[in-house]
Amino acid sequence: MDVRIRTEAQTREGAKIGTFDLCARCPSHSNCCSRVRHGGEIESPLLLGHEVRAIQRETGKSANAFSEQRSRANSIRWMRTGDGGCYFFRNGKCGIYPIRPVDCRLFPYDVRKNEKGQLVLIAYTSLCPETFDAARYRAHAATLLDLLGDDILTYGQVRTPGMDAKPHVTIGTIDEIRKGGR
Ligand code: SF4
Ligand code: SF4
Repeated sequence: MDVRIRTEAQTREGAKIGTFDLCARCPSHSNCCSRVRHGGEIESPLLLGHEVRAIQRETGKSANAFSEQRSRANSIRWMRTGDGGCYFFRNGKCGIYPIRPVDCRLFPYDVRKNEKGQLVLIAYTSLCPETFDAARYRAHAATLLDLLGDDILTYGQVRTPGMDAKPHVTIGTIDEIRKGGR
């Protein structure tokens, strides 16, 4: 994540950076935080290294308390979850909202590699009742991509097997969105 955006994101106003506006008017009041579960309907959020450190600083918890590493191939960690959803989802709210990970800020969008090896932005249409209109969301997407900054390569390359088969629409390649979205 770009340091400027990261710093801004971790303020009260910055808490809204991401899909806040989309989720604030969630047509089904379907709180995704209660639906995340390892191997469940929505996979638990991915955590980049600086996000793990920020959560540790803010909560005083050890990384192992709220997250787990699932592969020795990289240092990516994943949020722990339970029957009630995300580890930090309590009483209908996110306990770390101003510093929630970029994976949460992007959802229901995601970045992955297509069959040509290009990074593409997708939207999980079956998991979110919002009506996805590719043209409408391309501009929105350019802002969301700023959140990832240089982390986008890591983020796009890490596979989340539980999400691979979920129905989705492709909004466009990251290169196209970055060129056309400003
Ligand atoms: S991602 Fe979609 S389903 Fe989930 S809270 Fe946001 S608008 Fe609602
Ligand atoms: S970190 Fe917060 S926003 Fe992300 S899934 Fe957990 S409760 Fe929801």
